[in-house]
Amino acid sequence: MGHARTRIPGRLAAPSPGWTARADVIVVGSGVAGLTTALRVRALGLSVLLVTKATVNEGSTRWAQGGIAAALADDDSPAEHMRDTLEAGGGLCNERSADILVTEGPDAVRELIAWGAHFDTDPTGSIALTREGGHHRNRIAHAGGDATGAEVSRALVAAVGADPGIDVVENALVLDLITSAGGRTAGVTLHVIGPGQRDGVGAALAPSVVLATGGFGQVFGQTTNPYVATGDGAALALRAGAAVADLEFVQFHPTVLWLGPVAKGQQPLVSEAVRGEGAFLLDADGQRFMVGEHPMADLAPRDVVAKAIMRRMRESGAAHVWLDGRELGADTWVHRFPTILESCRMRGIDPVSDLIPVSPAQHYASGGVVTDTDGRSTIPGLYACGEVACSGVHGANRLASNSLLEGLVFGRRIADAIEVDRAGRDVPESSDDDVAMGVLANEVRRPLQQTMDANAGVLRSSQSLASCAQWLDDALDRPSGTPRTEDWETTNLATIARVLVEHAQAREESRGSHWREDHPDPQPEWRVRLVTTMDSHGNLHTVRRSPDWLPGSLEDSEV
Ligand SMILES: Cc1cc2nc3c(=O)[nH]c(=O)nc-3n(C[C@H](O)[C@H](O)[C@H](O)COP(=O)(O)OP(=O)(O)OC[C@H]3O[C@@H](n4cnc5c(N)ncnc54)[C@H](O)[C@@H]3O)c2cc1C
Repeated sequence: MGHARTRIPGRLAAPSPGWTARADVIVVGSGVAGLTTALRVRALGLSVLLVTKATVNEGSTRWAQGGIAAALADDDSPAEHMRDTLEAGGGLCNERSADILVTEGPDAVRELIAWGAHFDTDPTGSIALTREGGHHRNRIAHAGGDATGAEVSRALVAAVGADPGIDVVENALVLDLITSAGGRTAGVTLHVIGPGQRDGVGAALAPSVVLATGGFGQVFGQTTNPYVATGDGAALALRAGAAVADLEFVQFHPTVLWLGPVAKGQQPLVSEAVRGEGAFLLDADGQRFMVGEHPMADLAPRDVVAKAIMRRMRESGAAHVWLDGRELGADTWVHRFPTILESCRMRGIDPVSDLIPVSPAQHYASGGVVTDTDGRSTIPGLYACGEVACSGVHGANRLASNSLLEGLVFGRRIADAIEVDRAGRDVPESSDDDVAMGVLANEVRRPLQQTMDANAGVLRSSQSLASCAQWLDDALDRPSGTPRTEDWETTNLATIARVLVEHAQAREESRGSHWREDHPDPQPEWRVRLVTTMDSHGNLHTVRRSPDWLPGSLEDSEV
């Protein structure tokens, strides 16, 4: 189904690099995926340059509340975790990748503990495990009650900081991949805001680059993702010629604290674990509408809950539904959910005695840079790990708390793959025939987010997506920004939005987290993944692949 469309800026116009750094491996991003990869690469004795565009603890990782899913309990097994992962994934998971995730998961969590992370324990001293939507077992390990991500980030940042072989550069926005004339990875261009010698636009050279840049939640106005989640990694990979897949599968978290009709930017999450502990949803008439919607009722997979909420909101005209967690009692709220309790109380809502207003908001990107089971992208020397990657483990919908686990498991595997792949290779000479095609002005960002919220959110139709595509084509045709951080990010957001909308238009069915009002059921012929590349002129080319497909695998043929 390959076809060419709108011209998307092909290379971000940046002044020539003013300084150069070198390392064995460059890791871009300091969330769970980047930090884990850096530690494992160091364990092989290689030098690491870890660059991150804000401070080292910014990113989605530190916001994670619920926990990490792994088959750690005696009554659980990787096979059962696999069953739940595949069910949530709506028939599109890559079973080889998912099997690796669940099988290697428990060891990866143990290694995280060895690096210094502390998980909550039960009275016997074992790791306390809770349940979240889509899981049939208690298998979610958590820390600080609902502050798992903060603890994961703290432990990994401390471990990285203690290793002098990892050179960490903060406030360093990576712009584009540098490739050799033969198409191999040679490094990245980046813009660093000093102090020090590395100030302004520079080049970091290495034969191996790991993208661990997180998701693209800021494509939408209403999101749980922090401001750094602007899809930079997936956009720069596209510009370099790498394949991306599954961008239409955006998970909308069903229960995000409703802050009023004009709220924008990162919004507070009310974790699924609250429902795991017994809270339930009520509509505007006080009815428990999830009972009868799905056998797991309030703990159904996220897409099922988000769609049910949107339907109720539409029927009643209400701007939100309610979450009733009053039966949990003050003790559970204080000890198990201190972060959520505080974020509600700051806004005048006391979950111990009040109903909590909630509505869905963008939460997680299941798609991203296509990788094999060792994190290799389709460009030699370029790897992707964590939310930026699309290893196929999530399929059409991520199972709750599988994402921190993905960063841990595949960070380990990428380090091993780098060691194998780099044997006998030096830094390739970079080629300078890149075409700079300008950036979009940051003023486009807010209208872009509003257009995406209105037309490509939980509810999509051919009409809404067509108007969204038209809006994006018009915006992308007029690059007018000056190369500042915000303009570069906005260009990345628009690039990702364009591919997302193209995929959502093409996929004439509802599956997982992609819900088309005009095609409400899954269609057997759509049990395929959409894989997109961009040529040097900014034209998109999309093909259909079997869910079993991985780059470099035997099933390399288009379907
Ligand atoms: C509110 C919230 C709650 C969540 N709860 C859970 C949960 O309970 N369990 C779970 O498993 N998952 C949860 N998730 C999802 C999970 O947190 C993320 O998927 C995961 O942390 C992603 O890790 P990462 O390392 O891939 O990316 P991130 O942690 O987002 O890190 C990305 C890094 O890349 C850097 N970066 C980005 N672009 C550039 C660039 N151009 N140049 C340089 N650096 C760049 C960023 O600054 C950041 O350091 C939650 C997410 C949110 C937002």
